[in-house]
Amino acid sequence: MTVSPTARLPTLAVHADGDLRATAEVVAPIGVSTTFSYAQGDIKASNYGVDQHYHYARIGTPATAKAEAVLGALTEGHAVIYGSGLTAAFSVLVEHRPRKIALGEAYFGVRNVVEQYRRLVPNVQVVGIDCAYDGVDMVWLESPVNPSGEVRDIRSYALRAHAAGAILVVDATLAPPPLSYPFRQGADVVVHSATKYLGGHSDLLAGVVVARSARVADSLREARAVLGTGSGSLETWLLLRSLRTLAVRVRQQSQTAARLVALVESYRRSAVATSCHVPSAQQLALGRHIAAVRHASLQLCAAGCSFIQAQHPDGFGAVFSVTFATSEQARFVAQRLRLHRFATSIGGVESLVDWRYGWDATSEPGLLRVSVGLEAFDDLAADWAQALRALDEHERKAGAKL
Ligand SMILES: *Cc1c(COP(=O)(O)O)cnc(C)c1O
Repeated sequence: MTVSPTARLPTLAVHADGDLRATAEVVAPIGVSTTFSYAQGDIKASNYGVDQHYHYARIGTPATAKAEAVLGALTEGHAVIYGSGLTAAFSVLVEHRPRKIALGEAYFGVRNVVEQYRRLVPNVQVVGIDCAYDGVDMVWLESPVNPSGEVRDIRSYALRAHAAGAILVVDATLAPPPLSYPFRQGADVVVHSATKYLGGHSDLLAGVVVARSARVADSLREARAVLGTGSGSLETWLLLRSLRTLAVRVRQQSQTAARLVALVESYRRSAVATSCHVPSAQQLALGRHIAAVRHASLQLCAAGCSFIQAQHPDGFGAVFSVTFATSEQARFVAQRLRLHRFATSIGGVESLVDWRYGWDATSEPGLLRVSVGLEAFDDLAADWAQALRALDEHERKAGAKL
């Protein structure tokens, strides 16, 4: 590496692929070729920079090598890129062939992938993540959890998994580096939907598996070359481009989200009457319809929450949820928010709000998932205030008609 391996994350994001540079261009060129000329007389010899040889895009491309070098440096493992987050998840299952999976709360698409795997491999059992681990050979944990943004204790699941002889897979899509490093808490494999924060601009679909072991990563790459499950050349280039700014984007999104969570939660609390507090009309208008706000920063834990700080030394994820009493109220607010676009997905530079029940029948009907983008906090705060006031007005009018 032309950059010291002890360099900090923002530096690695810009320079970790320095050794793979083969041209004078400072920015990696967009390469769309699916095939590469053999070096003269030897189809195995380098034909691209130093020690690099490429034949055919299904097997590997210069952009994939660069993006994997950067991702591996940032995530502290060996990265393998796929065409989507769910292809990455499926590839982990096929690689490890678990017979009994302990599955925690997980994005509905991941649960579908596990179902797909079960259909293909007979007699696979799936149990809850807090069940006994006898016979369990893979534990699949999502942290932070989509859609609540709450954090789970990776270290405690790693200890339990390893004691049972199982591997721990962590889907860390909602907290990419520099917000979390699951290998430090004992994860064996980390999965990200790169469509979210790693891509960061809602303009590419990709996924990544990061293995602690180089051997596992090589085996994943071999299977990827056979199947062609990698990401397309333009998407891979966009991903590499986005990784350069990962640290500043994600830190800013994390900080804005923490302030927005505190604000919306303060609206909810101020609307609750107690023996010491009589809510004003203004406080009731803003907060009386909010049933719950969930995020790592508000999380209560039975056994203490010190693991949350330990897992997130640099801040929490930028996804949180706001629950209303009814699905109608949730959808009203989603449509009234102006800067938060009403659309699915997370992790982009634009704030998004999604009504998860529309996708996932196991979600609460009144829940909105919020993905905080890079807009100024004051503008996002004003957006929430106007949407909540509009809801209150709407509810008052509806009440008056009855
Ligand atoms: C979006 C998401 C995925 C799936 O990724 P795709 O890139 O959409 O295939 C997996 N896990 C989590 C937590 C996600 O949010």
